[in-house]
Amino acid sequence: MTKWVYAFGDGTAEGTSGMRNLLGGKGSNLAEMSSLGLPVPPGFTITTEVCTYYTQNGDTYPDGLTAQVETALDRISALTGRRFGDQENPLLVSVRSGARVSMPGMMDTVLNLGLNDATVQALAKSSGDARFAYDSYRRFIQMYGDVVLGVEHHAFEEILEHEKETKGYVLDTDLTAADWQGIIERYKAVVEASIGKPFPQDPHAQLWGAVGAVFGSWMNQRAITYRRLHTIPETWGTAVNVQAMVFGNMGDTSATGVAFTRNPSTGENALYGEFLVNAQGEDVVAGIRTPQSITEKARIEGGSDKPSMETVMPAAFTEFVAICDVLERHYKDMQDVEFTIERGKLWMLQTRSGKRTAKAALRSAVDMANEGLITREQAIARIDPASLDQLLHPTIDPSAERTVLASGLPASPGAATGEIVFSSDEAERLKGLGKKVVLVRVETSPEDIHGMHAAEGILTTRGGMTSHAAVVARGMGKPCVSGAGGIRVDYAKATLTAAGRTLKAGDQITIDGASGQVFLGALPMVKPDLSGDFSNLIAWADDVRRMKVRANAETPADARVAREFGAEGIGLCRTEHMFFDEGRIVAVREMILADNEQGRRAALAKLLPMQRSDFVALFEIMAGLPVTIRLLDPPLHEFIPHGDEEIAEVAAAMGVPADRMKERAEALHEFNPMLGHRGCRLAISYPEIAEMQARAIFEAAIEAAEKTGAPVEPEVMVPLVGLKAELDLVKATIDATAKAVEKETGKTLVYSVGTMVELPRAALRAAEIAEAAEFFSFGTNDLTQTTFGISRDDAASFLGAYQTKGIIERDPFVTLDVDGVGELVKIAAERGRTTRPDIKLGICGEHGGDPASITFCETVGLDYVSCSPFRVPIARLSAAQAALKAKG
Ligand code: ADP
Ligand code: MG
Ligand code: MG
Repeated sequence: MTKWVYAFGDGTAEGTSGMRNLLGGKGSNLAEMSSLGLPVPPGFTITTEVCTYYTQNGDTYPDGLTAQVETALDRISALTGRRFGDQENPLLVSVRSGARVSMPGMMDTVLNLGLNDATVQALAKSSGDARFAYDSYRRFIQMYGDVVLGVEHHAFEEILEHEKETKGYVLDTDLTAADWQGIIERYKAVVEASIGKPFPQDPHAQLWGAVGAVFGSWMNQRAITYRRLHTIPETWGTAVNVQAMVFGNMGDTSATGVAFTRNPSTGENALYGEFLVNAQGEDVVAGIRTPQSITEKARIEGGSDKPSMETVMPAAFTEFVAICDVLERHYKDMQDVEFTIERGKLWMLQTRSGKRTAKAALRSAVDMANEGLITREQAIARIDPASLDQLLHPTIDPSAERTVLASGLPASPGAATGEIVFSSDEAERLKGLGKKVVLVRVETSPEDIHGMHAAEGILTTRGGMTSHAAVVARGMGKPCVSGAGGIRVDYAKATLTAAGRTLKAGDQITIDGASGQVFLGALPMVKPDLSGDFSNLIAWADDVRRMKVRANAETPADARVAREFGAEGIGLCRTEHMFFDEGRIVAVREMILADNEQGRRAALAKLLPMQRSDFVALFEIMAGLPVTIRLLDPPLHEFIPHGDEEIAEVAAAMGVPADRMKERAEALHEFNPMLGHRGCRLAISYPEIAEMQARAIFEAAIEAAEKTGAPVEPEVMVPLVGLKAELDLVKATIDATAKAVEKETGKTLVYSVGTMVELPRAALRAAEIAEAAEFFSFGTNDLTQTTFGISRDDAASFLGAYQTKGIIERDPFVTLDVDGVGELVKIAAERGRTTRPDIKLGICGEHGGDPASITFCETVGLDYVSCSPFRVPIARLSAAQAALKAKG
């Protein structure tokens, strides 16, 4: 016979905390607390399997359930000396739902079940407190009426409000026993009018009504929606917990409360919670009365004049502190507990792992490791790497008053405040004057890079999480809110309108890239603190991880941030980003638009010293750490001048007529720039570009090595290779340039040449390509784009539907598609290694900073991941977690 019912209470239990799937979170922890010998009112859990049976068999129960429930009820009676419906000592129970994971949408708890017109009198007599008995009964009718019988709860509330008004009462506690008796009669009448039957008087009927309501609520619309949003399978089911009541509403020596064993917002190892004297159940959180602090310390800190539990119930307090300690030691984690004190006697009603802020998670994990409660490895495994993001950026002071202007997408975390600017040039100009600005655009384009760099934060009114603004801002570690559709921007008037207000350029706003909200004015900020717990935990992670962590960086500022965050080199220096600078873009355009080699060489000659000095700066900052430099890979359209004004400017610089320039620009127009003349294709058409870049790299390597005394061994990376012959050709140019530089300088160069694997063909032909390539760097942004055949810039318009329809679970541009793109990575790694066993392997797409993708990189055995500077700490922690997982 299947066991459907598990009993607990009196220092024993049939279940354990390991039986979460069968008993739900609440039930398994009640069993565990009971086994630990903690004071838990006796009760039993009906398993989640019964729920599954119930939903699959037309709301019926399996054979044997009734008998098992009767036996369990008898056990409670034996322990409490109370029986259902007894005229002297009636048993009262709570009926509580509890799935594996806590789930809104499930039936609310029903308390005081077992009360009826007769047992309420027995309760009044046995407790010697009629007021308490009637208060409990009216609560029961209200809860049961609402959640089991479906009577609108405001019907009850109106009756209570009316009574308080006519009698001139303020608080519920002002009502007398007689008042409650009158209310009970009116409540019962409301129920009868609503369901056409009297309120059920038989405790067994009440119990089965409540049990059925819990199981039924598993299939209600709210629960179904919640499960869909959180991918919780329907087959999990919920358990039902039936438990003897204890009473926090038996006068001034009784109370009920909730607490965290540590502070859930700071992580401080100090009991943190609230309680209410003479109250029951959710009164504490319902906001009916102001709750009191549990500890004296918290009362003083909170400036409350209401006495703490520590002062008013010292004995129960001492016991409670000891129990919290037992629970923490047992679960080895911060607990969130519920308790009730009945006439001075403490009862534990729930424990679970406490929800906490990123800061608290970090602090409590580090503290617990230092206290010896958990190991350092457990501390590392416990922190959600993505949550570190919250700690790496300034945030809005939580106590700040705020006016919301609009909401958009939380595109890049952190908060920023500054003057509104509507153009990137203006952003740069004001930044030069020492002002802080927020760049507000309908959307951004590569032309806005300098403005985005200059701005504290970026706000767009259009575009999704993978829009240009969002991707670039995340890369820069700049706060960004994208797609704030409620804002209207008028570039001509230099105003924006939102929430019925019009703001001008120069007015202050604040954006919160973690929530997507936009606020009026400059809100006060709190700075991130990367010392202490943060650096401790990351240092522990460094001891554990195998993969190196590098950064994608090209500017000296980014490289410095990367090093501050602990990057062990640069995995991707995108040279075209170095060309977007104001003074350079004209020379770059000259180069691209030149219609012969001579013209190109003239433009390249202007770029050479600029490139060289950039590389010298990078090498100096990285002081001997590896630096991978990718040769030019611009989708050409990003550089082609648009509009007559820009064309005229470039034409003038090149000394050619504007008409001819326009023709040339049109000739360069591509239908599919992402699949067009870019990557190594450019170096194949125009070897002089690769030659100039190689020269800049090598000359810089020599110069930086001389300056710093540390050897510089650049890694030259050829982008978008699909054929080995492409790499051979470009490599020949690089090698020849190296020879030339060696000859000119009399120095020996140590460098390597490798390729970015970003085309399926390159992955498949990796064995052959590895003959020429000394390293592979997986460019998973493009590899995802080319594997799926989905343009990253256009994906936002349909990927959302793919996710809501369940076609894909996660955005493949955010989290690596392990099945498809991942298989190509695996193939390339394996085939590359067969040719060249020590081939260096890394990843440099946005995925290099994504925890789930990093886990995959560990399984493939990559040597390093490379990500944007601000994600370096996240990658360090993720790489450590991945190594721990691989160790098993
Ligand atoms: P939730 O899942 O919403 O927290 P619970 O089942 O924990 O719901 O119950 C809500 C409240 O009822 C809690 O504050 C709990 O302390 C109280 N409660 C539940 N069972 C009992 C009981 N047997 N005796 C006294 N109070 C109870
Ligand atoms: Mg609740
Ligand atoms: Mg609870």
